[in-house]
Amino acid sequence: MGLIPGLSDEQNETRLLAKRFADEQVAPGAAQRDRQREFPKALVDQLGQLGLLGICVPSSLGGAGAGFTSAALVIEELSRVEASLAVTVSVHLSVGTQPILQFGSEEQQQRLIPPLAQGHGLAAIALTESHAGSDLGAIRTEFRDGRLHGNKQWVTNGSFAKTIVVIARDSEADGKPSAFIVERPASGLELVGTPEKMGLHASNTADLSFDGVECERLGEPGQGMRIALGVMDGGRIGIAAQATGLAQGALDLAIDWAKEREAFGAPIAKLGQIQAKIAEMSTDVEAARALYLRAAMLKDLGEPHTVEGAQAKLFASRVARFQTGEAIQVMGGAGYMTDLPAERYYRDAKITEIYEGTSEVQRLVIARALLGEAAR
Ligand SMILES: Cc1cc2nc3c(=O)[nH]c(=O)nc-3n(C[C@H](O)[C@H](O)[C@H](O)COP(=O)(O)OP(=O)(O)OC[C@H]3O[C@@H](n4cnc5c(N)ncnc54)[C@H](O)[C@@H]3O)c2cc1C
Repeated sequence: MGLIPGLSDEQNETRLLAKRFADEQVAPGAAQRDRQREFPKALVDQLGQLGLLGICVPSSLGGAGAGFTSAALVIEELSRVEASLAVTVSVHLSVGTQPILQFGSEEQQQRLIPPLAQGHGLAAIALTESHAGSDLGAIRTEFRDGRLHGNKQWVTNGSFAKTIVVIARDSEADGKPSAFIVERPASGLELVGTPEKMGLHASNTADLSFDGVECERLGEPGQGMRIALGVMDGGRIGIAAQATGLAQGALDLAIDWAKEREAFGAPIAKLGQIQAKIAEMSTDVEAARALYLRAAMLKDLGEPHTVEGAQAKLFASRVARFQTGEAIQVMGGAGYMTDLPAERYYRDAKITEIYEGTSEVQRLVIARALLGEAAR
């Protein structure tokens, strides 16, 4: 684990704590959970006991008050060994909890945040519908007569999240999207299914139906898009950290393999083409880490970080997808076999280019910010 200059003592300690937890508690069962599609419930409980599910929540609301940079470092360390657990935590800390922290009333924050920060339940966000992903404005879920009606799909932590932020058309705001909070248990909220995925098998992805579900308003009427886009600025930093962790995990595997595996009478580490891959992988990982840390630090300073978060996610997700493949290449056929984690990292990495805004959407965000009106 290389030194990261500029981190505070607290951030370094948090990173070390997460690393130890990842290596000792998470890594040993990760392959089996992936094979059995088993959600890591016990590990999530342990993370709660360690205070890591409230790492970036202010101490006045029951959290550790350590900031978003610490959260991102934790997500990277978890992802290095199990990306499924990392996305569970990333969604909980960022797009699940942050909307209430950033847009909730004092009363909502005091009531809803402490249990989430102390590990008594997970948070989720439900934006996507079958006909509305990148085009969030096309959602049809509706708030009318004080209740939610509609369907949401692919909600991370959706099967059991205690608190779900839902973006829906608001009959009290001329049909514009607003944000709402649903607390479980909630009558009319049904789990419709948990679709099979290419990777992230140990994470929970749920389709939900809302049939007259009681909810409370979050923020002002008609502010739904602003809230969703605002919290996704932070969510993207979490996914960039997840992608960086995947690439780091793959690099670690490739280095160990290159030193051990022999071909033509010597370790493959002596081969120039293998050395070049390791050099490229490590350079990409460092650059991805630097980008997500820059965005996270800006967020902690209260500075704008939309472009920086999008750049971090765009770059780190590409690195994760490409370099997890390169790790398999270094390992040859063994990397393709399911008894080693390289193929799991490769399957898990692809989604980082899709959720919390696809790479195409990140390019739009960056280009529009830089080009302004000329890009429209
Ligand atoms: C495992 C998993 C977990 C998820 N978790 C959640 C969650 O917790 N909550 C939630 O609400 N959603 C969640 N999602 C949904 C995810 O955020 C969406 O899949 C994502 O936003 C992309 O939307 P889409 O899949 O509908 O793709 P589409 O929007 O249909 O995009 C299809 C293609 O068109 C491109 N495209 C679309 N619009 C543009 C444009 N304007 N310019 C250029 N290209 C464009 C896209 O980049 C993509 O290549 C999850 C998805 C998965 C797979």
